[in-house]
Amino acid sequence: MNIHEYQAKELFKSFGVPVPGGGLALTADEALKVAQSLAPGKLVVKAQIHAGGRGKGGGVKVVDSPQEAAAAAGKMLGMTLVTHQTGPAGKTVGKVWIEEGTAIAGELYAAVVLDRAAERLAVMVSPAGGMDIEEVAAKTPEKIFTTHVEPGQPLWGFQARKLLFGCGLPVALVNQGVGILQNLVRLAWEKEATLVEINPLAVTAQDKLIALDGKINFDDSALKRHKEIALLDDPAESDPLERQAVDMGLNYIRLGGTVGTMVNGAGLAMATMDVIKMAGAEPANFLDVGGGASEEMVTKGFEVILTDPNVKAILINIFGGILRCDTLAAGVVAAAKKLKLTVPMVVRLEGTNVQAGKEILGASGLNFEVAGSMSEAAQKIALVAAGGAR
Ligand code: GDP
Ligand code: MN
Repeated sequence: MNIHEYQAKELFKSFGVPVPGGGLALTADEALKVAQSLAPGKLVVKAQIHAGGRGKGGGVKVVDSPQEAAAAAGKMLGMTLVTHQTGPAGKTVGKVWIEEGTAIAGELYAAVVLDRAAERLAVMVSPAGGMDIEEVAAKTPEKIFTTHVEPGQPLWGFQARKLLFGCGLPVALVNQGVGILQNLVRLAWEKEATLVEINPLAVTAQDKLIALDGKINFDDSALKRHKEIALLDDPAESDPLERQAVDMGLNYIRLGGTVGTMVNGAGLAMATMDVIKMAGAEPANFLDVGGGASEEMVTKGFEVILTDPNVKAILINIFGGILRCDTLAAGVVAAAKKLKLTVPMVVRLEGTNVQAGKEILGASGLNFEVAGSMSEAAQKIALVAAGGAR
């Protein structure tokens, strides 16, 4: 789960990582009030969307007065911000964060990231902050300094000093930086974050280190242990279909292709997506209705698949174990009638009560083809999705 910059900064503050004073606004009027409550001087208005690259895309504005802050906020709110991380459709700005301006003398990069291969947290620091760290990694990898933290252990002072001296920082800044990096690691462990990133970690004209941006990614599977973090989720940032599916208890991920898939079991669902791609088509979604899905769950799954306007055809691939083929077939027929299904389907059924399932489908009058094997199912669905002969 991702959170917004302003939420990351609130967490930073509670973990002793310095951030500028600021406040959140949902309207231009609120922005004015927030701006007036901050220290006089320059202000920065920042669009709150779950994507980076806002600076280049017009989502970060430095202004000189609360009135200008309100005007900038009014322009930003409701606008569609397109950055290299949002995709071409962009994201609608619903909230802005207004903070006290910082006199920037330099910009560093600092991050703590779960390194799955090393089975440890990696701490990364770079003097090339403010820019795309992926680009720094690709072009000048020697400018990124990395160390690992043993499971459950703090980042030791000597490790942090080595990274920061590597970046060429003077002693006074290294001492501040050690505290910041140690606190970021503490945050990552305590909240089970998979990424805690500050870009830029600014060096101010007064020789202070301060976090001007914040990005935190949490381990979804650990959220049940961190209710206060789960509450930070912004539903406006997730795909509406995925949200609907989660509410229904389905395991659904939207993928953007044209072949809707309904499968039981995550492994079979992954394999189904592979064969669809191998046949030259693109899956519209991953959907595992579960090993013990009821007719109701199958109906709900169908509803979610069909709500996606990209779907041109549906492949149902079921291995009837605990979920019996006749239950699946009854669910498919019920959903198809309820939703007045028009897109073609290819069905591959195998396992418990397969004969009964095929009979239910056969008697339904629905527009579908039966495939005997997975590869046959994939070939057929690719043809159907491309609008070819059936
Ligand atoms: P991102 O582009 O989405 O990563 O947004 P950032 O928060 O990193 O902002 C982009 C750039 O705007 C930063 O690298 C800074 O140079 C500048 N910036 C961001 N916040 C401030 C601030 O408080 N004061 C000043 N002067 N510049 C800022
Ligand atoms: Mn940034």
